[in-house]
Amino acid sequence: MRKKIIAANWKMNMTVAETVSYLENFRSHVDEVNGVEIVIAPPFTAIAKLSELLGGSQKISLGAQNMHFEMSGAFTGEISPAMLRELFVRFVILGHSERRQLFGETDAIVNKKLVLALASGLKPIVCVGETLEERDAGREKEVLETQLRGSLAGVTPEQMQTVVVAYEPVWAIGTGRTASPEQAQEAHAHVREVLKELVGETAAKVRIQYGGSVKPNNAASLLGQPDIDGALVGGASLEPLGFAEIIKAAVPK
Ligand code: PEP
Repeated sequence: MRKKIIAANWKMNMTVAETVSYLENFRSHVDEVNGVEIVIAPPFTAIAKLSELLGGSQKISLGAQNMHFEMSGAFTGEISPAMLRELFVRFVILGHSERRQLFGETDAIVNKKLVLALASGLKPIVCVGETLEERDAGREKEVLETQLRGSLAGVTPEQMQTVVVAYEPVWAIGTGRTASPEQAQEAHAHVREVLKELVGETAAKVRIQYGGSVKPNNAASLLGQPDIDGALVGGASLEPLGFAEIIKAAVPK
């Protein structure tokens, strides 16, 4: 049984002050929630404060939205996994489509980050997903396979147990246009097939999140699909009550 994992990607939103009031509000809504892994990935500037407020919480884990592929050095503006671990960050989002599209991240770069994240004890959330153009050309499965093989190159079955994959069709991110539960399930099943080729039976244990305009009103139908093991939530995670409702939709019945 794969425990569902719901992660908030706040992107470049939320000051430290906003983070403090968000958490107080959010906690009151998820107090009674059990059986779901919750992750919040704030911007780097809010990580230290959130870490202090969470105090090692088992219910809510801290995530980062990115990291560099070296431990230290002359990389102006970058953050290393050691810096994240020092603040008790548990998860790191790698290869988000905005990183790929706006900052030129390739599968090879994502793979370098993944290797260092795993060696540093961080749990990677590796994002893959096709553009609208690629889907319209009927190339989505091929694109997913290429991204998975490139991003996950060299990962052992044992390491793969700590990796989460996020299927995020680029055309559904921040657009209000969601993949239908059937479209998402088909893509997730394909991701699992590729994982099976890469890591054998371990593929059945890997959690695959869906991301792309997940909202309180569509979360249950997406999360009800057999290969959808959670959600990576952007816009809707900025509102504590709505994010809590998405999490509640993932509670085992
Ligand atoms: C995301 O950025 O990972 C995402 C899924 O965003 P949104 O929920 O806003 O589509």
